[in-house]
Amino acid sequence: MIGDDFAELKLFITGPILLREEVRKAGLLPEFGHRDAENPKRFEPIMRNLKTIAGNPEGYSPVIFNGSGTNVLEASIRSLVADSDKVLNVSVGAFGDLYHKLAVVNGKNAVQLKFPYGQAISLEKLEEALKEHKPNVVTFTHNETSTGVINDVVAVCEMIRAHGAAPIIDAVSIFGGAPTFINECRPLMYCTSTQKSLGLPAGFGIGFVCEEALQKAESVANRGYTTDIIAQVGKAKINQTLTTPNGTLANQMCVQLDYIVNDETVAGRFKRHEDMRTIAHKWAETMDGYELFAQEGFRSPSLTTFKTPSHMSIDKLKEVKELMRGHGYLFDPGYGKINKELEEQGESPIFRVGHMADIQPEMVEEYLDVLGGVLKVFK
Ligand SMILES: *Cc1c(COP(=O)(O)O)cnc(C)c1O
Repeated sequence: MIGDDFAELKLFITGPILLREEVRKAGLLPEFGHRDAENPKRFEPIMRNLKTIAGNPEGYSPVIFNGSGTNVLEASIRSLVADSDKVLNVSVGAFGDLYHKLAVVNGKNAVQLKFPYGQAISLEKLEEALKEHKPNVVTFTHNETSTGVINDVVAVCEMIRAHGAAPIIDAVSIFGGAPTFINECRPLMYCTSTQKSLGLPAGFGIGFVCEEALQKAESVANRGYTTDIIAQVGKAKINQTLTTPNGTLANQMCVQLDYIVNDETVAGRFKRHEDMRTIAHKWAETMDGYELFAQEGFRSPSLTTFKTPSHMSIDKLKEVKELMRGHGYLFDPGYGKINKELEEQGESPIFRVGHMADIQPEMVEEYLDVLGGVLKVFK
């Protein structure tokens, strides 16, 4: 039968993620009409719980976009960067680069500030760039999934505002795993999606949009249709989506967000992510030749990156991946483009351990135990 050979792997990659049994079962709940009275039974609690997970930021509306995280990032560019604006895309890795690409391919006047892989945004360098370019809008990544760096969003936003610009934040891999600090940061938009720390399949992007952003969008030409935050917020305010949502995912999201808020609790979930980070860091100490890759003090609670010893290579990490598959796990051999660049510079590659969403601390311990055994084969 179709599906008989689909492997039941424990995903330790950085999205999509392992789904809880209850979330998988919620995929069997009834389909519904998105303009019918059945719709708010799902989307009213979804919107309420999204706000709770975000820390109830004053004056922000959650919007659910069809597509994935990238669709929301693109909507933020299309709706919030005017033709007369300059946008500064600050990048600490592949996803920061993606924001710059989205600005460029949408014809915006975009400049980029790049930091070396593994480094967080340096406030001094950011200030220099703000003084040099005088941007109107600045994009940056809360949690850089390609390098395992978490930026100090509050300090970065404060600096951006101090120079008269408005921040937009890509928080795709962190929402649901750590505080957003939206209230302190006051970004135009805070963008995320379902398939990372929230513990759901991919299919929706989520954006938190404020009044300032809606006013700004009024002055932006050619916002598109599905990328127009004004049209999107119009529907979101009545707990609907602009276009037909994935009903299966909406059912799963309704169940999962209720679990996060009312069962696990938001504080409990954030604490569990910190605990998993501690486990990953402790394991690194036991692994001869392996080092934590991300800058100290800026290490993500949703994933950890490891710098391998000089005898490791991209090809060997591919072998590790297959050996881990034999143990029932999907191993993450690092972000392809970054490892290629590292190898070209004569450096050993990095790999990632995703410890986000509903992975439990004891599962991370088990996984790292097996991984340690596999890595010791390579000398
Ligand atoms: C995964 C990810 C994206 C891309 O999101 P998609 O849902 O794959 O479109 C963007 N930014 C960050 C930080 C991510 O982790």
